Amino acid sequence: MSLLKIEDINKSYGDFWAVNHVSFDLQEGEMLALIGPNGAGKSTTFNMIGGQTQPNNGSILFKNRSLLGLSADKIWALGIGRTFQIAEIFSSLTVLENVQLALQIALRNKIALFNHGDTDLQDEALLLLKQVDMVENAHTAASEIAYGDVKRLELAMALANHPTLLLMDEPTAGMSPTERIAMMALTKKIAQEKNMAVLFTEHSMDVVFKFADRIIVMAAGSIVATGTPEEIRNNALVKEIYLGN
Ligand code: ADP
Ligand code: MG
Repeated sequence: MSLLKIEDINKSYGDFWAVNHVSFDLQEGEMLALIGPNGAGKSTTFNMIGGQTQPNNGSILFKNRSLLGLSADKIWALGIGRTFQIAEIFSSLTVLENVQLALQIALRNKIALFNHGDTDLQDEALLLLKQVDMVENAHTAASEIAYGDVKRLELAMALANHPTLLLMDEPTAGMSPTERIAMMALTKKIAQEKNMAVLFTEHSMDVVFKFADRIIVMAAGSIVATGTPEEIRNNALVKEIYLGN
């Protein structure tokens, strides 16, 4: 059974089709990259999965359950985590407080599955910070940390509800090539440890080829190619429309 199964979703804004007949599956633990030029419909696809927007038609099944009509909060509570292109953190709080807040929200939704009964919120938050190598920054104000650290903090916060699928829309936007590799290596390591699937967008083809198990290429709202990094690298149509050669 696929973890996520998307069948023939469409999204229009007026008479413009931002996403057109898109279908794909995502397996448990898989790292799937969704790539394509600006305006291809990647973020719109993420937003339909995350419940930020609804498709005109089609179906989206997560663990065989339809996500259509559910609120973003409900979808999050089902175990679909999300990071955004513009990080959503509270800059007036410390790094640790940000993670504690994410855990509190998870708890309120009664979905935090803490491993040990008497672990308190702070220990759990520190555990999450450890996973993203940020324990030293725990008591720093979130407004004071470097850009790459903000993205890692956002990842720790997204892990608070123990997602089995993580949606990452341009997680490395604005990063240097070295930071991009480090961010995705960290994401992949965590994903493997937790058997968490990751659907991500990324503009650097080096990063995509290095970390994706499988790649879906979109252009002008439609999927134009699907394959392994090797297949996509050698796809003539992809070279023409996306890689520009
Ligand atoms: P990508 O993330 O691949 O760059 P998007 O999904 O953001 O692409 O956008 C796909 C197309 O849909 C673009 O042409 C964009 O301008 C359009 N679009 C996205 N959101 C809206 C909206 N809320 N209203 C109108 N057009 C939109
Ligand atoms: Mg986008």
